[in-house]
Amino acid sequence: MTEEAIRYVRSFLLGAVQLPYNQWESLLGYTDDPKQFSHYKSVICPSGFFDKGNYGRIPSMPLLPLKKLEGLPFLFGEPEVEEIGGTKIIHADLVASAYFLLSRYEEMLRREVRDPHGRFPGKQSLPYRAGFLRHPLVDEYGLLLRRYLPEGSLPPLPRGIRFVDLSHDIDAPFLYRSWKGLARSLRDRRGIRRSLQNKFGRPENDPYYTFPQMLETDRKLTALAGNCVISAYFKAGGGNKPFDKPRYDLDSKDLQNLLGLFKGQGLSIGLHVSYEAGLHPRRIRKEKLRLEEACGGSVSTSRHHFLCAREPEDMEALEKAGILVDSSMGYADQIGFRLGTSRTVRRIDPATGKLGSLLLEPLTIMDCTLQDEKYMQLDYGEAKKYCLEVFENIRRVGGDLCLLWHNNSLAESKDAYLGRLYADLLDALPAYLA
Ligand SMILES: [Zn+2]
Repeated sequence: MTEEAIRYVRSFLLGAVQLPYNQWESLLGYTDDPKQFSHYKSVICPSGFFDKGNYGRIPSMPLLPLKKLEGLPFLFGEPEVEEIGGTKIIHADLVASAYFLLSRYEEMLRREVRDPHGRFPGKQSLPYRAGFLRHPLVDEYGLLLRRYLPEGSLPPLPRGIRFVDLSHDIDAPFLYRSWKGLARSLRDRRGIRRSLQNKFGRPENDPYYTFPQMLETDRKLTALAGNCVISAYFKAGGGNKPFDKPRYDLDSKDLQNLLGLFKGQGLSIGLHVSYEAGLHPRRIRKEKLRLEEACGGSVSTSRHHFLCAREPEDMEALEKAGILVDSSMGYADQIGFRLGTSRTVRRIDPATGKLGSLLLEPLTIMDCTLQDEKYMQLDYGEAKKYCLEVFENIRRVGGDLCLLWHNNSLAESKDAYLGRLYADLLDALPAYLA
């Protein structure tokens, strides 16, 4: 196990990843050697999780129910804190607990647990089973540790949500503008004249072309709050699996205009990695080059279509393709904190314990997770309640929020509330911001 990853987790817990080592290292030690205690203001005692012979084996998995320290569940160690010579000694192993969540350790050990798309289901995860998936538990450990440190030891955390990413995956920019769309339009009994208009007329007529309305909603929030960005993830073709449909041509006039619309407003454009490249991650590089060619600029962010970043080590391919930040880390079937944190974190490979260069921006809430019958199946009221609960939990730790709303979720539909919910959530959000 590399010392580097453990040191990184210590700095992450303190919210000090940007600070030089010598500015925080004496604040939090990770040792059970009493001779070392006096070097630190606080010390977490290792529980044995990282020990050779234990790490990577099934008996290293935490047992339910979890023990709690000051109301917070932790995965390893004992709920005891003592003071020895002015140093707080914490026997709850918050370093191993945070590492377990941040590194997707559970997904490595439970390879046999996957849904039909090869994804680890949120409902099977320890955070869900232990009842804390909608809490950024690692960030909450950080708040707790600060209480054990002398005041002013660290820069203060923001009071409120620090940063918001309003993100959109462009899976289907249009419903009726392809030849298949024309056939669909006729099948939907929209009439020949209207169907031809959909195919050949202005894109604004298409029900999925909700971009002006979407950007206006986003703009209202970004005008109000400086700590807010808008991003869009485009598919770059390349995927030949049924779940990669509909495919669209980035060089077509419609897609060039759409890319122009996003770029003209200074929005971030990222790669929506195809379902097929999720199965064969080495294809990601080609898709990235294709998108860069089409949008005439470099692309350094990504999110997997269907959130199909399957195995923890698959993400190495993103690094090799030159992606710097990926935002696939949410569960498709449950909203909340797949990595146990709301903050962007460096990739840790649980198999090797090595730190990668890729940054993972946690995805907090995906629109269809709330409503889809395969996922949470919530009605409007419940969905809004759960989303606001998550906003509140991030506000309390001064963390970050990433929303994913698809353009077609904003299309009018009699049985979908997602468009209305998006507008209502963005209206409510300023009260939670830092
Ligand atoms: Zn997608």
